[in-house]
Amino acid sequence: MSTILDQAGKDALVAAAREVQARAYAPYSKFLVGAAILTRSGRVHLGVNVENASYPVGACAERMAIGAVYAAGDGDAIAVAIATDAPTPVMCCGMCAQALYELSPEILVIASARGDQRREAVVREVLPYAYQGEGLLTGPGADKAGDAA
Ligand SMILES: [Zn+2]
Repeated sequence: MSTILDQAGKDALVAAAREVQARAYAPYSKFLVGAAILTRSGRVHLGVNVENASYPVGACAERMAIGAVYAAGDGDAIAVAIATDAPTPVMCCGMCAQALYELSPEILVIASARGDQRREAVVREVLPYAYQGEGLLTGPGADKAGDAA
């Protein structure tokens, strides 16, 4: 739960996102984003946005950090900090909100802009109608799911 994260903890997480932001690969937009996800174990998993000459191939920093969380087998996420140099805090995009929701519906999102102006919200507030997989196992065709191949 986000409630166990005090101000010092939030500041440290934003600092981690701010530090990794410099390593973002964004040669096309020049919009560098760093993300840092704190898990209950106390570990911080980092991500940066990664652009590509074929634009849709690129991925947001938040989802890159989510990959690091899963890769570490450390999935009990508490908070994610997102650092940009935008003039106002930039919340995660809808795609990342969906991915963060599946990681933890209670994850606290802390967006930090240039000058560390911040905006905070729990991810279910960012994307209140997040897709929860309803119908994936019970929808049309589900009865055939085990019949493939
Ligand atoms: Zn995103």
